[in-house]
Amino acid sequence: MIDLHCHILPGIDDGAQTVEDSLDMAKQAVSEGIHTIMATPHHKNGKYINEKNDILCQVSSLNKNFLKENIPLTLLPGQETRIYGELLEDYRNGKIMPLNHNKYIFVEFPSSQVPRFTERLLYDIHSEGLTPIIVHPERNSRLMQDPDILYNLVNKGAITQVTASSLTGRFGKKIKKFSFDLINANLTHIIASDAHNISGRSFHMQEASDLISSEYGLDMLYMFQENAEAIVNGHTCYRDTPEKVKKKKFLGIF
Ligand code: FE
Repeated sequence: MIDLHCHILPGIDDGAQTVEDSLDMAKQAVSEGIHTIMATPHHKNGKYINEKNDILCQVSSLNKNFLKENIPLTLLPGQETRIYGELLEDYRNGKIMPLNHNKYIFVEFPSSQVPRFTERLLYDIHSEGLTPIIVHPERNSRLMQDPDILYNLVNKGAITQVTASSLTGRFGKKIKKFSFDLINANLTHIIASDAHNISGRSFHMQEASDLISSEYGLDMLYMFQENAEAIVNGHTCYRDTPEKVKKKKFLGIF
């Protein structure tokens, strides 16, 4: 399995604090069947700044530690960038790290709003030859109130990533339900862990995979896994036609 969203680099954000923490996370990931992790530290979220070159150094150093410790895990460079007006300018200046050097970039919204300039910026990101991936839209309260905003952005080409532990209920029933609503409406394309540690915010990728396959069948699970692979390789993701979220849809599992 590939995990595209993980705060495993030590001491640079609110994820792993020490190399020891990183190694513990790596071992847990391997035990869940994960063989590749995209390291995606926070960038420009008001607290942390992690530019491309720093991320590349950290990834290379942690990969050496995995080899030394015989942990069969490959780390690739990525970044979780909070949306901001100069994002594209900073991309051109080499500060933004596209996932594994390819054409996808992670874009995070503030937790309770979607800035007015979002649609324009995502359009500009596309024009630059990049594809924006909106991370954990299911945890954004504005999108939860008005899912048509997300529908509009996906319709215009954005990809979205739902977090494994949102599906398993770690963030509560409402977020769990909205996560499944997004899958039902073809408004999400990848599942990733957004793991920060091995306790409160760990991977839950296996648990989420089991839930997806039991609810939708293996084809849906394979679609998510193949999209993760496509993103690592800079290939085009599979996308079904997005639909609007049906407000009163009942799913027996809640
Ligand atoms: Fe994150």
